[in-house]
Amino acid sequence: MSTYKEIIPLLLAKKEEIEARLRRTDKHIHHRDEPLSADFSEQASEVSNFEVMIALDKEGKEEISQINAALGRIESGKYDECSACGTSINKKRLEAIPYTTYCLACSDKAQA
Ligand SMILES: [Zn+2]
Repeated sequence: MSTYKEIIPLLLAKKEEIEARLRRTDKHIHHRDEPLSADFSEQASEVSNFEVMIALDKEGKEEISQINAALGRIESGKYDECSACGTSINKKRLEAIPYTTYCLACSDKAQA
């Protein structure tokens, strides 16, 4: 039985990548000192960019918590255990999405 310790550096690298992205997004969100442009179309695109930033920020934070959870599951030896049905998750699937908590069948059900 694999202990999946080899996944840890992958998860840490992924986490670092997301954290770097979040720092950039954060700057965009919190350092908007300049007044909105008077031109309406430009203003509209500024607003939608802002919404995209917020969405990316939220998504990144969720990914980080999933990665932290995956690291915890590796530690406790339950990394490949599906959190819905308890069967072991396919190794290929874990390699593709290292922070997934569901087996393919449960993930399909969740998205349906
Ligand atoms: Zn399952």
